[in-house]
Amino acid sequence: MTSPNVPNMTLDPFTGVMPPNVTLVVTILGCGSSVGVPALKYGWGDCDESNEKNIRTRSSIILETATTSVLVDMSPDLRQQLLRHRSFKVDGVIFTHEHYDHTSGINELRPVFFGSGRTLKIYSNAECIESIKSMFFYLFEDGVQEHNIHDPSNRVDEIDYAKEFSGNALYGSGDLTGNDRSANLYMPYISANIIADRFQIGDISGICFEQNHGHSKSMGIRVGNFAYTTDVVAFPEESFAKLYGLDVWVVDCLSPEVVSNHANIDSVLQWVEILKPKMTYLTHMSIRMDYDRLLQILPPNVRPAYDQMQFEVNNQ
Ligand SMILES: [Zn+2]
Ligand SMILES: [Zn+2]
Repeated sequence: MTSPNVPNMTLDPFTGVMPPNVTLVVTILGCGSSVGVPALKYGWGDCDESNEKNIRTRSSIILETATTSVLVDMSPDLRQQLLRHRSFKVDGVIFTHEHYDHTSGINELRPVFFGSGRTLKIYSNAECIESIKSMFFYLFEDGVQEHNIHDPSNRVDEIDYAKEFSGNALYGSGDLTGNDRSANLYMPYISANIIADRFQIGDISGICFEQNHGHSKSMGIRVGNFAYTTDVVAFPEESFAKLYGLDVWVVDCLSPEVVSNHANIDSVLQWVEILKPKMTYLTHMSIRMDYDRLLQILPPNVRPAYDQMQFEVNNQ
């Protein structure tokens, strides 16, 4: 089962071999702040509720080539996001940091792995992996590995997800009715991998770098000339240097005003002035960020993202 917009891989008619997957499809699964839009208690805030682009689930993206799907963060809205994306194929998950709105969907892929004997590989820096392991200890196999980008196991498994989703095979020996007492639906199914500064998952490879997230740190990623930097208020110098020459940049922009742990409109525009990415999309937006109002005040090369927005970039 693949997303309808992801090109299928076919043999090169002249060479008879698989061409490299040069196209990376990026989908914004969610672009909302930690409480989403609308928010409990605060509702729509400054956002026009009649505009669907103001409905924002919690922030996450998925990167897809013809063979590989990499999720970045597992938001509390992950189940809803993958159902509407019409694909639950996930070959690996990169976590940007341990905050609730980026990790608490970690249980949601369990049905995909029931009874399969496979593990879901997750990737992040050592601090984040340690936090996630302590929060969700029951999901983890023992041991944490250093991620070796040359390890052949970085190849993705060939799995027929469509077949897996049909019938009782999904649940292995168990069922979800409660009749099969032997079924342990919370069996550990996650294996953790620590990334230093590079990752390779299937044919998607990139770099990661540290970000200042106010009271804590987060991780930005870059694949080819695409970068995703959510939950950031400032960049260490060496990280900022990795953001030059971008075709598309998806960047945190919580609100119009200054906050202690997130970027705001002014800070993003200042970064854009220096880095000059061809296109910038704002994410992690709060109820203060009305979509149409942003279109009016932002330059044409800076646009608000919206849930299910999709674009293509070069994979390398
Ligand atoms: Zn967040
Ligand atoms: Zn955060």
